[in-house]
Amino acid sequence: MGVNTVKDGGGKPVTIERVEELMAFLQGQEIDGITCRWMPRLSSRAAFSVIYFLQEHMDLLPDHFEVCVRCRDLFDTEREGRFVERTGRHYCDGCD
Ligand SMILES: [Zn+2]
Repeated sequence: MGVNTVKDGGGKPVTIERVEELMAFLQGQEIDGITCRWMPRLSSRAAFSVIYFLQEHMDLLPDHFEVCVRCRDLFDTEREGRFVERTGRHYCDGCD
């Protein structure tokens, strides 16, 4: 099982684009193909908390996607960014 295909059900790889789509959905953005009567309206921080739960507690999403503490963008820690151990914060390449 590849790191990007962890139990995602449909057999589609869990790309950063799909996680970004989930983040957008959790913040109230309409997504093509999804009809939802009660749209979530979370802040970006709360939306990432849901992603975090799916990563760490349910093991449904790969855990190498993080949100940059400065610009709030999602990024792939396997491809870019920096983790500051002292503060426990992640920064994308654009904010490094
Ligand atoms: Zn950033």
